[in-house]
Amino acid sequence: MLIGVPKEIKNHEYRVGLTPASVKELINNGHDVIIETEAGSAIGFDNEQYIAAGASILDTAEEVFAKAEMIVKVKEPQPNECEMLRPDQILYTYLHLAPDPRQTELLVKSGAICVAYETVTAPDGTLPLLAPMSEVAGRMSVQAGAHHLEKAQGGRGVLLGGVPGVAPAKVLVIGGGVVGDNAAAMAVGMGADVTIMDRSLPRLRQLDTEYEGHVKCVYSTGSAIEEYALEADLVIGAVLIPGAAAPKLLTRDIISRMKTGSVVVDVAIDQGGCFETSKATTHQEPTYVVDGVVHYCVANMPGGVARTSTMALNNATLPYALEIANRGVKEALERDPGLMAGLNVCRGKVTYKAVADVLGYDY
Ligand code: NAD
Repeated sequence: MLIGVPKEIKNHEYRVGLTPASVKELINNGHDVIIETEAGSAIGFDNEQYIAAGASILDTAEEVFAKAEMIVKVKEPQPNECEMLRPDQILYTYLHLAPDPRQTELLVKSGAICVAYETVTAPDGTLPLLAPMSEVAGRMSVQAGAHHLEKAQGGRGVLLGGVPGVAPAKVLVIGGGVVGDNAAAMAVGMGADVTIMDRSLPRLRQLDTEYEGHVKCVYSTGSAIEEYALEADLVIGAVLIPGAAAPKLLTRDIISRMKTGSVVVDVAIDQGGCFETSKATTHQEPTYVVDGVVHYCVANMPGGVARTSTMALNNATLPYALEIANRGVKEALERDPGLMAGLNVCRGKVTYKAVADVLGYDY
């Protein structure tokens, strides 16, 4: 199969669909790969590395879209990219169609076969192509929180791990899923005093075993959140209710009574945020202050560490890309119901029920 990777064109998007290592795997499996020039240069994957891996470099996205049988990307295609898709061409990338009627319409019109990373499902029901970005965001949330606790960043001037003779900072992680677990791991590693809350008792039991007593695992209620947030130096919001907006767990009233210079990192901001005072920010201007509390609410945290994120994403996306390329898309989808769950639009039809329902397409 001829596989094509255009350069990402969304503002400040430096990730790339395939790393040189992934290109080599595809080529070793008998496929051909074309890459738009400089597609990975911003994160240290330059043209020479792709050529060494066996790819050909093309000058423009137009050429890549015109020739490739499968397009591998990171972000949802922009309108001009949708226009370049052809009937039966495979598009393999994040799509997030439910809130995006325009993109859905353009993909339907294209006649392409569009597999969305975010709905590909593992046999245990988890979302394997979303998990790597949650791992990145969870780990990064503690790094961002620690940085903004510094005085010069508006924080209260507290070192997460303390030092011998000075108690460590208190970190509250609300939501103990992939983001929360990875945040807790980093905070424990930095020597903080960590509490993690979840509404799922089985999950709290798992975390309790995992951390062998190094983390307090507390059932999430409004009262518990209030009690621990008022004591905390850093609160990380990491809840998810699948298919719904995030619940506002930290109210404006609680925030107004938190310590001045404490920091809140709302990772759930991409689902509307789980703090009442949250509004989405960018890597260029990541924080703002409400009632003396520093808010970090970057909606696209993994983009800040685009090289790590690209490699983490490729580890998860490559096996499916190989299946599609090796078997052809029809057989690959038929063999794996989890990959079939990723099919959102196919040859002019919306094929993912939740998207069809919310946007009014026949399913
Ligand atoms: P997940 O499903 O693995 O975990 C969510 C957890 O929240 C679950 O364990 C669930 O039991 C728990 N939960 C639900 N309601 C709760 C409540 N009231 N109190 C406490 N816990 C509650 O999800 P995840 O992969 O960890 O993702 C968490 C959030 O981070 C999602 O909103 C996701 O979209 C977001 N995210 C954001 C970025 C970013 O760049 N900002 C990147 C990746 C993920």
